[in-house]
Amino acid sequence: MLKVEGLKISLGGFALQASFEVDAGQRVAVIGPSGAGKSTLLGAIGGYIPSEGRINVGGKDVSNAAPDQRGIAMLFQDGNLFPHLTLAQNVGLGLRPSLRLTNGERASVSEALGQVGLAAFEARKPGDVSGGQQSRAALARVLVQGKPLLLLDEPFAALGPALRGEMLDLTSKVARDTGATVLMITHAPEDAERAADQVIFVDEGQIEPPQPVSEVMSNPPPALRAYLGR
Ligand code: ADP
Repeated sequence: MLKVEGLKISLGGFALQASFEVDAGQRVAVIGPSGAGKSTLLGAIGGYIPSEGRINVGGKDVSNAAPDQRGIAMLFQDGNLFPHLTLAQNVGLGLRPSLRLTNGERASVSEALGQVGLAAFEARKPGDVSGGQQSRAALARVLVQGKPLLLLDEPFAALGPALRGEMLDLTSKVARDTGATVLMITHAPEDAERAADQVIFVDEGQIEPPQPVSEVMSNPPPALRAYLGR
């Protein structure tokens, strides 16, 4: 579903290389030390960071495509909700930056908000809901786009453990319901065990191909063991 071939990125003194594949419908945790290149990897796949090599999504070469033409939706750490817009409008931005939505698109926005348990909060602004509900709205904005590949750059890192777990479960559920493939950065191994099928370990710009979570966690390679402190 996702095929990364000979990906190369150079940022100042930092270099990253990757070649790997992810099957459709897999949820893959991307873990590794701070500064290892996790965000850079997702940014390159999403088309936000220039790279060499080939990126194929759903059988289509998107190496030179703009971010919105890649079949990918990306959720960033801060969620990026606009404070002056309602939750429905924030989600609507996922479909049309102009916010001139058709009736069908409006229905899709309501459906996405319903999927994340925010049906009753459509008309609220971000400042009038909790942090957890803001995260849900940001997730709805990603869902409404109906893209086959979701890239999550630690969007729930600022939430407490209970809410973070809830958001991970919700993400897993909607990914299963929609058949979406998910790459999610996390620095918490328990998040990987809770919400992922596979793990990609990133260390100093080197990317290990995805491996089953249970295998990796029960018998981590030396660099991962050092990172986990086990
Ligand atoms: P991670 O997400 O694993 O914490 P990043 O992908 O954010 O790591 O960063 C990887 C490396 O790339 C770091 O050494 C960082 O300092 C460097 N880096 C990130 N962005 C830039 C940039 N715009 N210019 C130069 N170096 C950068």
